[in-house]
Amino acid sequence: MIDARADVVPRTLAAKVLVVEDEAPLAELLRYNLEAAGFTVFHAENGEEAELLVAEEKPDLVLLDWMLPTVSGIEICRRLRGRNDTRQLPIIMLTARGEEGDRVRGLATGADDYVVKPFSLPELMARVMAILRRAAPERVAEVLVSGDITLDRAAHRVTRSGREVRLGPTEYRLLEYLMQSPGRVLSRSQLLDGVWGRDAYVDERTVDVHVGRLRKALIRGKENDPIRTVRGAGYVFGERKSGMMVEGDA
Ligand code: CA
Repeated sequence: MIDARADVVPRTLAAKVLVVEDEAPLAELLRYNLEAAGFTVFHAENGEEAELLVAEEKPDLVLLDWMLPTVSGIEICRRLRGRNDTRQLPIIMLTARGEEGDRVRGLATGADDYVVKPFSLPELMARVMAILRRAAPERVAEVLVSGDITLDRAAHRVTRSGREVRLGPTEYRLLEYLMQSPGRVLSRSQLLDGVWGRDAYVDERTVDVHVGRLRKALIRGKENDPIRTVRGAGYVFGERKSGMMVEGDA
């Protein structure tokens, strides 16, 4: 399935990521999180679509499932590596856990990296960012800005009104995730997936605890709270809009 939605939103500087994955729910999860991180996402369900999209859209990175219906991911990887224009194209292979693991280690040498399903989303996103920083640094947003808050991914540094905000690693990732989707309500389970990973043994109250710590670190004196609690829904980062049901700063 070729989705044209990405063409509607102009993201001239955003890196393009091609997701080649035949499992629709996983493809959707990847699209959601990659788009939230600011990337333009194309999706192919099989090798033929993938090769077409590589030629047409010239992606900066390919997330390539190994087990695909007709042409395998390994074969696609080999073909891309065999062509001059895609020899250097960064490829991350997605592989199934189990007996394929060791074979893939040997076979997938053409890929830049690989992750084993079920994978941790934060881990995958970190690898995507690491590879893009090397391959297409001009296409990766290194600094996120919202009002007086700045998050510098390269320096791993957060400032508010010029002063440094000291955050633990979880609060940093939480803020980064929130700043990637300003104005969008993120449920506790979306935050768990995106910040802690699906396999993490944490419950949704953990999200509240870390949001509380993040607020405490961000707010000095009369500064406004950049994180809003949306009753029954989750959290939203950014400017307060009228007409929206919000709780206090609890
Ligand atoms: Ca598959």
